[in-house]
Amino acid sequence: MNAQTASSSAHPLDLSFDRRAPKPAGPLSLAGLTRPQLRDALIAHAGVDEKKAKMRADQLWRWIYHYGVTSFEEMTNVSKDLRAVLAREFTLDRPKIVERLVSVDGTRKYLIQLAPGVECETVFIPDVARSGALCVSSQVGCTLNCTFCHTGTQALVRNLTAAEIAAQVMIARDDLEEWPTSNENRKITNIVFMGMGEPLYNLDHVSDAIDIISDGDGMAIGRRRTTVSTSGVVPKIQELGERTGTMLAISLHATNDDLRNELVPLNRKYPLAELMDAIRAYPGLGNSKRVTFEYVMLKGVNDSLAEARALVKLLKGVPAKINLIPFNPWPNSPYECSDWDQIEAFADVVNRAGYASPIRTPRGRDIFAACGQLRSESEKIKASVLRKQRLAGGE
Ligand code: SAH
Ligand code: SF4
Repeated sequence: MNAQTASSSAHPLDLSFDRRAPKPAGPLSLAGLTRPQLRDALIAHAGVDEKKAKMRADQLWRWIYHYGVTSFEEMTNVSKDLRAVLAREFTLDRPKIVERLVSVDGTRKYLIQLAPGVECETVFIPDVARSGALCVSSQVGCTLNCTFCHTGTQALVRNLTAAEIAAQVMIARDDLEEWPTSNENRKITNIVFMGMGEPLYNLDHVSDAIDIISDGDGMAIGRRRTTVSTSGVVPKIQELGERTGTMLAISLHATNDDLRNELVPLNRKYPLAELMDAIRAYPGLGNSKRVTFEYVMLKGVNDSLAEARALVKLLKGVPAKINLIPFNPWPNSPYECSDWDQIEAFADVVNRAGYASPIRTPRGRDIFAACGQLRSESEKIKASVLRKQRLAGGE
């Protein structure tokens, strides 16, 4: 699918097609499988007796996700014979890192190859207070074409499998030397689904991946430390809460339908009033489980103080956190980032309404660390041409 087709289609992503996992080229990697998938693989390919399969899967689970081993030889409580079978039938390979960039501020960005020509991005953002978030992708590209977002311009779109999502966490933990799982001094304390793609268009795989990542016998990054960001796929918001128990983030960016229709075209399908109703009904919402509202600061577009006041009014009564995100420009993008003074003045209005420190400081600017920014210069230029053509076409 090219970006043009994606932008003009009412139902942009054919989920019935995309839900199927791509067939692996070589032996199956066990790194990234869910517990049931692991058990089934042992029965089908390693001749493990059905009655013993659950026990064996539990044993392997700990080696794979608690210790992060990359060879079957390290599984010392598994018999030599079974280890040999496992090594013959499976691997523990992760997808390859094709580019790794480390910023002066400690931000790390990985471009990960999932299959030839299919790449996604993962970004590790260390925080000041001994915590760090890993920003993972849920799709390659995105069908939604928000006008300020570079990811939406990418030609290729497909859902990532649960294994490909979980593997992003494993790859980052390999690189940060975070094995085995420890409860003290963790580098990756939080997971945010704010990389490439719309997670609620891939909820089955996102939900399975969260089961893997949060499992206490494995990587153990809890559901309350996991945030899923959506541009507003209203019919899936309740289901997200029920299936995953994670924190919700909403890419709001505008406080009225006219402007949001332009910035986040999905708003034409699910307008603000419906979105706000779905948010209010999010399971478990309360003071300890607030919704994060993301608001990208676009100069002269959505950054007036009247809009700051409208934002406060819109969120009244919703347990909320607000993240003001300085716009990260890409070459020939149709917007500019708001002036810093304006962002501060906007933040002031929001602060006075009781929302603390809402500006998200830009991280890893020297490595283009905002999600969707690690592309070759030529791809960026091609994308911006497509964007301009689309805007010229009156969308
Ligand atoms: N598709 C989901 C999650 C991925 S986008 C969503 O839209 O919520 C993660 C966040 O980055 C979103 O809030 C998105 O609006 C924001 N974003 C995208 N492009 C950006 C840019 N160029 N500068 C700043 N923020 C951007
Ligand atoms: Fe897709 Fe999110 Fe980018 Fe919009 S902001 S195009 S939903 S990734």
